[in-house]
Amino acid sequence: MESFDVIIVGAGSVGMAAGYDLAKKGVRTLLLDAYDPPHTMGSHHGDTRIIRYAYGEGVQYVPLVLRAKELWKELEDLTGVPLFAQTGVLSAGPVGCQFLQEVQGSAQQFSLPLEVLQAQEVHERWPGITLPEDFYACLEPDSGVLYSEACIRAYRKLAIQHGAVLRTHTRVTGLQVEPNHVIVQTENASYRGAKVLVSAGAWNPSILQSLGLHLPLVPTRKTVAWFEADEDLYQSAKFPAFVFTLRDSMFYGFPSFDGSGVKIGRHDAGQPIDPDQLDRTFGTFSSDEGDVRSFLESYMPQAAGRLTQGKVCIYTMTPDEHFVIDRHPEHEHVVTTAGFSGHGFKFASAVGEAASQLLTDGKASHNLSMFSLLRF
Ligand SMILES: Cc1cc2nc3c(=O)[nH]c(=O)nc-3n(C[C@H](O)[C@H](O)[C@H](O)COP(=O)(O)OP(=O)(O)OC[C@H]3O[C@@H](n4cnc5c(N)ncnc54)[C@H](O)[C@@H]3O)c2cc1C
Repeated sequence: MESFDVIIVGAGSVGMAAGYDLAKKGVRTLLLDAYDPPHTMGSHHGDTRIIRYAYGEGVQYVPLVLRAKELWKELEDLTGVPLFAQTGVLSAGPVGCQFLQEVQGSAQQFSLPLEVLQAQEVHERWPGITLPEDFYACLEPDSGVLYSEACIRAYRKLAIQHGAVLRTHTRVTGLQVEPNHVIVQTENASYRGAKVLVSAGAWNPSILQSLGLHLPLVPTRKTVAWFEADEDLYQSAKFPAFVFTLRDSMFYGFPSFDGSGVKIGRHDAGQPIDPDQLDRTFGTFSSDEGDVRSFLESYMPQAAGRLTQGKVCIYTMTPDEHFVIDRHPEHEHVVTTAGFSGHGFKFASAVGEAASQLLTDGKASHNLSMFSLLRF
C-alpha cells in the first residue's frame, strides 16, 4: 500500500491550495479527486468569483481574507497567469441594511478604502444601475474578481511541481481512522496516510458522517446566468462586480468580460440536494432564469438582454453560514474544511494554508475559533 504524510480527499478550491502549501513544505502529499479539477461538478466552476475585503458577513473574516489576497497575488506572481481583475465591488442595499453596516465597520476597523455613495450618485457614475431612493452603496475599489478555475489550475501545477501526487477520477469510497494513521479507500486502491484532510465540498456531509461527525451541512442547488448587456455600460473596464442586499433576497454579479455579458446569481434560496442526484440542467426551475432576470429588469435594465448561458453549481450551507475549519474532536490527525455557504472561494488560498498548518503544526496562525465544528 502506498503511504503518504497527508492524504487530501477532494482537490477542489481548498484541497488544491492545501496540497500546494503542504508539498511546498516538503510534506509527502496525495491529492485524490473524484473528477479532474477544475471541473463542473462541484462548487468552483463558472469562471469567476468575487473577492471583497470589507466583509459584509462579519468583520472577523477580514484578517483571513487579507491573507487570502496576499496568497492569490503570490500565486499569480509564481505562475505568471492572470488570476485577479481589479474591477472594484459595489455593495448596495436599503439604508439601515446590516450587510452594508458590516462592510462599513470592516473598512473602518481595518482602514480599507471604501466610498459611500447615495442612490443618485451611483446612477450618475454607472448609468446602468438604477437604485430606489432609499438605497445606498459602498464601492470597495481595490477588490474585484478571481478567475476561479484558473486559480485551481495554478495551484494544481505548483503542487505537482513541488512533488504532490494527484490522482484524478479517483473517488474516495471509505476512510478507516486508526490511532496513528488513516486508510483511505478508493474504487481501485487503498492508501495509508499519517494524516488526512477532508475537503470534499458538497460531498463532505456523507464522508464526515462516516467519521462520526453529523454536521448540519446542506448541499444546495444554485444557478448562475449570463445575459447580453449593453457593453458601453457594463464592460469590465467600466463596471464593478456587485452584491445587492434587497429586503428579502440577495443577488451578486459580474461585469461583462470580453463581451461575455453580465453574469448574475441569486445568493439566498436554492433547493437542498444530494450532489450525486443533482439536476444539472439550467432552466429546470422557472426561478433559474426568472429570479435574476427580474432583478436585472429592476436594477440594471440594459443588462436584461438575451440569456446566453446558464450553469448549475452547489453551495454547501451551514445554519449560521459560517465555515467549518477544524480538527476532528476525537482524531487529531483528521482535519476538515466544509460548509463554505456560498462565500468560500475568495478564502480558499488562506483556508488551504490554515488547513496545512493544522495538519503540520497542530494550530493555524489565524484564529479559527468561529469555524469550530463543536459550535453545532
Ligand atoms: C454559483 C456559485 C457562485 C459563487 N460565488 C462566490 C463568490 O463570488 N465568491 C466566493 O468567495 N465564493 C463564491 N462561491 C462559493 C465558493 O465557490 C465555494 O465556497 C468554494 O468553491 C468551495 O470550495 P470547496 O473546496 O469546499 O469545494 P470544491 O471546490 O467543490 O471542491 C471539492 C472537491 O472534492 C471532490 N470530491 C468530492 N467527493 C469526493 C470523493 N468522495 N473523493 C474524491 N474527491 C471528492 C470534488 O470532485 C471537488 O473537486 C460560489 C459558489 C457557487 C456555486
